[in-house]
Amino acid sequence: MIKFLDLAKQYESIKPEIDAAISAVIRESAFIGGRFVAQFEEEFARYHSVGNCLGVANGTDGLEIALEALDLPPGSEVIVPANTFIATAESVSRAGHRIVFCDCDPRNYTISIEDVSRRITPKTKAIIPVHLYGHPCNMDLVLELGAKHHLRVIEDCAQAHGAEYKGHKIGGMGDIGIFSFYPGKNLGAYGDAGAIVTNDEALAKKCRMIANHGRISKYDHQFEGRNSRMDGLQAAVLSAKLKHLDEWNARRSEIAGIYLEGLGNDIRVILPRAESWAKPVWHLFVIRSHQRDYFQDRLKIEEIETGIHYPISLPKLKAFQYLGQASESMFANLADRELLSLPIGGSMTKSDAYMVVDTLCKAIVNI
Ligand SMILES: *Cc1c(COP(=O)(O)O)cnc(C)c1O
Repeated sequence: MIKFLDLAKQYESIKPEIDAAISAVIRESAFIGGRFVAQFEEEFARYHSVGNCLGVANGTDGLEIALEALDLPPGSEVIVPANTFIATAESVSRAGHRIVFCDCDPRNYTISIEDVSRRITPKTKAIIPVHLYGHPCNMDLVLELGAKHHLRVIEDCAQAHGAEYKGHKIGGMGDIGIFSFYPGKNLGAYGDAGAIVTNDEALAKKCRMIANHGRISKYDHQFEGRNSRMDGLQAAVLSAKLKHLDEWNARRSEIAGIYLEGLGNDIRVILPRAESWAKPVWHLFVIRSHQRDYFQDRLKIEEIETGIHYPISLPKLKAFQYLGQASESMFANLADRELLSLPIGGSMTKSDAYMVVDTLCKAIVNI
């Protein structure tokens, strides 16, 4: 049995550190705010080379709070990729703006800059590049386009902890970046958690206030905010796990290398491309094939778990019918039938990766 992602195995490998971190929080009753959250915020800001980091309750809240803090005119258009998790898009409408879906690149699956530029109107005020599957977006092009059209840039880093663009960690290149620490992410908590990062001091302060009832000190509420805080238990777990992130990402890279090499010779399986300017962290390893369902079945027979990210492109979801982009002939609207995510993770063994390659190669021969 090869699991899609084995979090129990990861826990076993660092059990004493995690158990100690959790009991320290309980001993100190540092459940909300407190030193564990402050410590993680500082460590994570340093790790991503960004001036400010604040913990929030989850990544979706992070996006919503970031959009609110940017204070765009009501009804602004915000460009979002059609192939991403729904949270990226939901945050736009929740903040009172209009989602405009754009296509993604058929090789690295991040935002297609050509398509973004076609969709810019005088109402467009922001763009949310998603470093999808752990592969960074082409940030020079995003920032160039953003500067030309006065767009704010919100980096959705939920799948890309530690990824680099031209030697720089992602997150601090746009106006603001958000991370998710959902348990299955490259850096995952033991529950929901998220973070906002930015080099803009004033923006960071505003986000911090929005996430904490519009206040800085205990009862001094400056405006109506909300409650979206990271809790101490999650922060302590994340600090313990952050020390292992590079090593886990390195293992993911090795697994991806085995897949790329082992599956590289057949046109019926299209492999993801790691661009020369990118250091991806392989949150997911997504192949593409007209015979997707066949390959998924063959892997299942050998007890190899797979996933599909995402089975329905966002414009085609019932939730987004009102936008009228479901039948646009975008690559993303067609590719959802062909995408297949292979097992990958920081605790996966190389022999398991070879097993996946063998099974797929046999399946290719038997088509
Ligand atoms: C996971 C994810 C989110 C949302 O994060 P949560 O912590 O689950 O709210 C946002 N965007 C992308 C691309 C994600 O993968």
